[in-house]
Amino acid sequence: MRIDMHFLGAAQNVTGSRYCLDSNGFRFLVDCGLYQEREFRKRNWDPFPVACGSVDAVLLTHAHIDHCGLLPKLVRDGYSGPIYCTSATADIVKIMLLDSAKLQEEDAAYKKRRHEREGRHGPYPELPLYTTDDAEACFPLLRPVEYRQPVEVGKGVNAVFHDAGHVFGSAMLRVSVKQKGAERILLFSGDMGRWDRPILKDPTVFEEGDYIVTESTYGDRLHEGSETIAEELAEIINSTLEAGGNVIVPSFALERAQEVLYYLNQLLMEGRIPRIRVFLDSPMAVRITDVFEQNPEFYDKEMKRLVRSGNSPFDFPGLSLVKTVDESKAINEVLEGAMIIAGSGMCTGGRIKHHLRQHISRPQSTVLFVGYQAVGTLGRQIVEGAKEVRIFGENHPVRARIDQIQGFSAHADRDDLWRWLTGLKGPPRQVFITHGEPETAHSYAGFVRDKTGWKVSVPGYKERAVLD
Ligand code: ZN
Repeated sequence: MRIDMHFLGAAQNVTGSRYCLDSNGFRFLVDCGLYQEREFRKRNWDPFPVACGSVDAVLLTHAHIDHCGLLPKLVRDGYSGPIYCTSATADIVKIMLLDSAKLQEEDAAYKKRRHEREGRHGPYPELPLYTTDDAEACFPLLRPVEYRQPVEVGKGVNAVFHDAGHVFGSAMLRVSVKQKGAERILLFSGDMGRWDRPILKDPTVFEEGDYIVTESTYGDRLHEGSETIAEELAEIINSTLEAGGNVIVPSFALERAQEVLYYLNQLLMEGRIPRIRVFLDSPMAVRITDVFEQNPEFYDKEMKRLVRSGNSPFDFPGLSLVKTVDESKAINEVLEGAMIIAGSGMCTGGRIKHHLRQHISRPQSTVLFVGYQAVGTLGRQIVEGAKEVRIFGENHPVRARIDQIQGFSAHADRDDLWRWLTGLKGPPRQVFITHGEPETAHSYAGFVRDKTGWKVSVPGYKERAVLD
């Protein structure tokens, strides 16, 4: 038995998930993601580490761009095989890739203008990493599969997709590789969600596996505060309404926006907040919400019950799913009694900037953060208490109430990761810890090693492992 595994991303960092496996002359990728950390983004432009035409299949865990965002480049450079993923992931991937291509095109055009002005050439070519056409070329290759249904990937490789509880449609993979009568089970955690989260089913626990590839984003900490989300949200809404302002919520389009709607719906049903106007002002979030509604089989029991009883969180009184720019501009007239959820999640672009311009200097209003704010973003400046921020080239004093709800997280914490791993009935041959900052990944590796004595490693970029 010999399987070669090549770690091409999310190896001692958290983006660019991409693993290449070779068995018996059959080559497949698990994920094909974009690098998003500033220090590693250059890798997106490197030639693909394996010839794109030599890849036979792609298994895609979910639709986040750091897992699927290099597919257009893979396809442009010669890949023409199937891309297996769940049906919800296939629908969301299309939305995400088109958005990503548009950003790449805008970015290239911006660089070109700047370089022309400055009479120089930048570190990257002034061509987009990929275009809308490249993104669309991926669509016919998407092969939707169902959870728990074995998929014959090819040459003794079989895969089963299981619930990961991370974002809508997300999957963990159980891959069986057979060579001359011998079999090895490989488990890929993908991005692991958490138990008891709204809308989504829980992560799947496996009893057997020979080789385990597990994420470790929060492998050195424990999440707190998820049980108080509704309470915190109610307090923020009620006091902002009393003050006579709006609540402005920068949000990611996939999962977080829908989760916020879920909690709002719950508070309304329980009468803990008065009827308010809620605007979901993000074309991408609205399209993704449509995908949710078209795929109700992905809902957990509680969500199914809500929808069946006519209490869907995506269709409550007062909710507007904003589609056009004119509708979005009309929100400017609403100065109080509303909650406006808009992208981008870190305030780096999108419609949120218009709403921030409108409200950040109004003491009556609240800017509420529900997600991670990376260093260097407008969102981070606001969260860290900047007295003044620059929006569309103008300075605005920060006078609004700035608040943050910490309990939202789409990733397992250390105890969740551990709960998943210890579902195994026997020791695996090896555990690979990926998708974590180096200190975090090593910390979790040490934790697992101490508790179990198992063989645990933290592969680096382009490192290879031979599985026997
Ligand atoms: Zn993810």
